[in-house]
Amino acid sequence: MNLRLLSVVVALLAFVPGGAGAGQTERVVLVIIDGLRYSEGLGDPARTHVPEMGALAAQGALVEPFLNDGYTYTARAIPAIWCGAWTGVTDFSDPDCGGQSNSYAELPTVFEYFRKGLSRPADDCIYVLKNLCSWKASFDPSYGPDYWPLYHAEGVLDTDVWQEAQTVLATQSPSFLLLYLSGVDYAGHHLGWDAYLSAIETADGIVGSLWETLEADPDYAGKTTLIVTNDHGRHTTDFTGHGDGCAGCRTIQLLAIGPDIEAGLVSTVPRSIPDVTPTIGALLEFPTPLASGSAMEELFRDPTGVGDDTAPGTEWLRLVLAPNPTRNATEARFLLPRRARVSSSVHDLAGRRLATLLDGEMEAGEHVITWNGRDAEGGSLAAGVYFLSVTTPGKTVTRKIVLLP
Ligand SMILES: [Zn+2]
Ligand SMILES: [Zn+2]
Repeated sequence: MNLRLLSVVVALLAFVPGGAGAGQTERVVLVIIDGLRYSEGLGDPARTHVPEMGALAAQGALVEPFLNDGYTYTARAIPAIWCGAWTGVTDFSDPDCGGQSNSYAELPTVFEYFRKGLSRPADDCIYVLKNLCSWKASFDPSYGPDYWPLYHAEGVLDTDVWQEAQTVLATQSPSFLLLYLSGVDYAGHHLGWDAYLSAIETADGIVGSLWETLEADPDYAGKTTLIVTNDHGRHTTDFTGHGDGCAGCRTIQLLAIGPDIEAGLVSTVPRSIPDVTPTIGALLEFPTPLASGSAMEELFRDPTGVGDDTAPGTEWLRLVLAPNPTRNATEARFLLPRRARVSSSVHDLAGRRLATLLDGEMEAGEHVITWNGRDAEGGSLAAGVYFLSVTTPGKTVTRKIVLLP
């Protein structure tokens, strides 16, 4: 997307009532806790080892089940979180690390989508991790090194990484920060059960302090969404290893908290690793065209705010599009609180109505309509950004939809 078109998108999004991405999130912090098995994390109803994340879950949203649906080891799962897809990775001799062998993601990453999509400098996009030669983002010709994040690789322990993250937050205030914590996986492999649990408690404490820090910082308070996830779990029957398709390896965490996230929601729509980056794209309003996942819009609060049920003349209405982005068809699923006249249409960026999907009386309950990516004459539309709206008397809900080539 060229800059001129992007500015048109941004300008229009500002006027789309209730559109996904028309919310209050201006900044995102993503935390990846390596190899935390869900049974010792938020999957434990008592939250014995994760009291801080348990408290945040009550103010935010959890997805159950959230799955690693690909490779349950770090070298493939972390690039999949970055790319919103199970990307291939390629080895190369990395000049940043004295020519030693390193790997890069073949598909563009969230860093590249963010920086290019929003025209942001490197210091607005920071990746904090322990001191190692970090795997690199992509060399995709449309993205690539010009849009990589600033890597801050400091220290050994998770507490060192957290120390560095605090410095970064205080001095550079990036709009997108990724914090990678490796201590839980290391302890699980090498240090025994007690050390594994203690590493979980350390990571949990860091997440709690991180949210407190964000909420106390005027650059972040009230406009930041925090997402905490894992690359993989651990074997159901052996916490010292992981890497296969057992439930323990596949089941991971997705905790989101922020101004656009429904509070106290436990969403049972099954989701997986490729959905993280499209969700960040929807929150910050940048496209993620090569991602295979889709934005978890079911976690979003109605962007028009509170009290829809009580405001006179309005209808409570929940609209979820999936898949989104899509190559051909998408399903629009919505919940109607009572019998009403309902219409649904698709518009382009200029506000032109391209297709009417629905216009008539409908019963209360859940309805699904399909849009096949075509206009009213049945012609295929060009790849790009469109808007699908559902209107009842007194309320219109609009979602952005990305049509892929
Ligand atoms: Zn491991
Ligand atoms: Zn396993």
